[in-house]
Amino acid sequence: MRISGALRAVWTVIALALLLGAGAVHAQDRLGAQARLLADDSRITASRTQLDVDLALSQPVPYRLRVLAAPPRLVIDLNTLDWGEDPVPQSGTAIAAQRRGHLSDGWARMVLDMAAPYLPETAEQKIDPESGEARILLRLKRVPLEEFEQRAHSEEALIARTSEALLHPDAPAPQLVAARRPVVMLDPGHGGIDPGAERDGHRESDIVLDFARILREVLLRRGIFDVAMTRDADVFVSLDGRIRAARAAQADMFLSLHADALPEGMASGTIVYTLGDEASDDSAAYLAERHDRADMLAGVDLAGNTDEIARVLMSVAWQDTAPRAKSLAESLVTGVGEAGLRLHRRPVQSGAFTVLRAVDMPSVLIELGFMSNPRDLAALLDPDWHAQMAEVLADALEVWWQEDQALQALRRQ
Ligand SMILES: [Zn+2]
Repeated sequence: MRISGALRAVWTVIALALLLGAGAVHAQDRLGAQARLLADDSRITASRTQLDVDLALSQPVPYRLRVLAAPPRLVIDLNTLDWGEDPVPQSGTAIAAQRRGHLSDGWARMVLDMAAPYLPETAEQKIDPESGEARILLRLKRVPLEEFEQRAHSEEALIARTSEALLHPDAPAPQLVAARRPVVMLDPGHGGIDPGAERDGHRESDIVLDFARILREVLLRRGIFDVAMTRDADVFVSLDGRIRAARAAQADMFLSLHADALPEGMASGTIVYTLGDEASDDSAAYLAERHDRADMLAGVDLAGNTDEIARVLMSVAWQDTAPRAKSLAESLVTGVGEAGLRLHRRPVQSGAFTVLRAVDMPSVLIELGFMSNPRDLAALLDPDWHAQMAEVLADALEVWWQEDQALQALRRQ
C-alpha cells in the first residue's frame, strides 16, 4: 500500500479495529482478564525514513490510529488495555517522547511525538492461535510536511465522524505539550552597501541570498526545522547584528552562507569554517579580514573584536559548543562529498570569523564555492546546482541534528 492510498488505510484500520472488537470481547470472556501490554516484547524503531511500532499484547484489542499536526504526533488508542509500568523500548531518535494514559471510556491512549512527519502505511494485528497473544504492527513512512498536514487534518475529521467513543466529551485527553522545532538560522553573507565578491556583473550577496531562500524552502518542507534568516532582502546587516538576530530567533544552529573570491588559484570547491583563534591557512585569514572590513566600511566599530573572539574561545560554554560546531562542519562536508559535489582539498577549516563567535549555538561559515574560480562560478549561477546543494546540506543537517541530540541526551544523563 503506497502512501497515496493511506486514506484507505485509515478506513481499513477502523474496520479492522471494529471487527477485532468482537473478537476481543470473546477473548476477555474466555480469559476473564484485561489485556496487558507486554513491554519487553514491544518495540518502537525509528529511522529517518521509517517508523515501526510493534506492540505485544496479552490478548487482541480493538485499536485506532490518528495523526496530529504541529508538531507531528501519532495517537494510538487501544480498547481496554492496561499499559503497566514499563515504557515501550525505543531505538532511534525520531521519537521525542511517548506518553500514555487511560481515557475514562475504557480506551487506553499512547501519543508519540515524532521528530519528523511520518504517515501510516500499513497497520495489522496478528494473533498467535497458540498463546492467544496479539501483536499490533504499524509501519509509518516519512512524507513531506505538506502531505502530512493535509492528511493529519482529514484523518482527524474522518475519525471524529466515525467514532464518537474516541472523542468522548468527558474523556480527559492526555496533556499534549507542543514540542518546539529546532531553529536553523541562515545567514546570507553581505548585502546592501556590501555586495561581497563580484564577477561578470554577478554579486556574492545576491547569489547567497538566492541560495538561502532555496535552502529555507527545502528545510521547511522536511517538517523538522524552523528557519529564520538574518536578512531576506538586499540590505546591510552588521556581523554582530546577524548574531543578535540569531539569538532573537532562539536559533539552535547558525549557518553563514558565502561564495567569496580569492586571489587567482587560491581556492575552489566548498569549504566549511568554524571559529578558531588562528586561521588554518592564508585564505581563511584573508576571508575573515575581508568580512570584518565590510563592517568597518559601514561604520561599525570593531575595536576589541580580536579580544572578544579570544574571550569566547576561552569561555567554559565554548568547550561544549566547539565540538558541536566541528561535528556540524564535518557532517556538512561529508554530505557534500558523498553527493559528488566539489569540495576544497581541505574542506574543514577554521578562522577568526566575527560572525561565528556566538558561544551559545554551533555556528559555521560555508563557502559554497568561490566566485573567483570559473568552474565554481558556473555552479553558483546554476539553479540545478542550488537545488542539489540545498538538499545535500539539509540532509547533512538532519543527520547531524539527530546525532547531536542523541549525544546531548547522553551528556545530560
Ligand atoms: Zn563572503
